[in-house]
Amino acid sequence: MRIVAKGLTYTYNPKSPFASQALKGVDLTIEEGEFFGIIGHTGSGKSTFVQHLNALIKCTGGYLKVGYYDLADKKCDFLELRSKVGMVFQYPEYQLFAETVAKDVEFGLKNFRKDMDEKQRAQAVREALETVGLDYARIKDESPFELSGGQKRRVAIAGVIVTKPEVLILDEPAAGLDPLGKKELMELLHSIHGGWCKTIVIVSHDMDEIAENCTHAAVFSEGKVVLTGTPPEIFAQSETLFSLGLDVPTTARCALLLRERGIEIDTDFTCDDFAEKVLAQWRAAGMPGKTGAGQVAERTTSGTESDINREQAGGDGDAE
Ligand code: ADP
Ligand code: MG
Repeated sequence: MRIVAKGLTYTYNPKSPFASQALKGVDLTIEEGEFFGIIGHTGSGKSTFVQHLNALIKCTGGYLKVGYYDLADKKCDFLELRSKVGMVFQYPEYQLFAETVAKDVEFGLKNFRKDMDEKQRAQAVREALETVGLDYARIKDESPFELSGGQKRRVAIAGVIVTKPEVLILDEPAAGLDPLGKKELMELLHSIHGGWCKTIVIVSHDMDEIAENCTHAAVFSEGKVVLTGTPPEIFAQSETLFSLGLDVPTTARCALLLRERGIEIDTDFTCDDFAEKVLAQWRAAGMPGKTGAGQVAERTTSGTESDINREQAGGDGDAE
């Protein structure tokens, strides 16, 4: 399902002294099949926007379509829409509530899939729990409150993907996890992407996460979309991002530091690509590396730097 927003506006507490306009005309298209990133400063409207996508917040201004569902139309079948657009909130583990893991995961199914009998539901719960990497037999009768933080988050995600939504939206899915937990969570999302859920939309303020994982992204600022593109397109505009008070991925920061030293790295800003491109330049400069080991082992470190600088100055673009 394609997501199209045009001139989407939203005001909290309208007609009150506390009125606050969170969305000021959002124009954004998210194609089916994307692993889409939404970036932006705190308060820029990211959560307000994504909560529109499954009608958790009703569309009150502008145009919003998800597939053929017209969310601005009061007659839209919102229940059916919500079974197709799953939403994982920030810190979803705080919303676990049932006595057992299985009952928690089954909750959404009971709401959305009234056509399923108990056996079919149990099978779906098993599949969802296994998909998020949990051992169904061991965990199904546990209390969700007894699990570790990472396990709880997985259970919460299982409770959303159990309906097999076509679009899965996650608001800051890796927030509060340690680096390994973040990596595992992203791997899980990639394993769901394309199969269980055709389109994935993540809200994140972690630029490394966006650079590593997303096919396209949009930058929100003050209730509007100010930049869209692939991560390389977005992160090439570091000045714009800095001016919005945003950061760039670690790779982009390193690329900027190298540029100051006269070395251009033409990278897509993923770690693997960045390392490869830097190594390619290193080797092009005749420096020892795994493949070129021993060729020029005698060079000194200071010689190394000026050699690379010289090649750059000479326009030798061997990186690509
Ligand atoms: P983000 O997710 O990018 O941090 P939000 O969508 O949460 O941004 O918030 C956008 C704006 O709307 C902010 O100014 C915020 O203070 C305001 N806002 C968010 N939620 C509420 C709410 N429940 N009531 C009133 N104002 C809100
Ligand atoms: Mg938010």
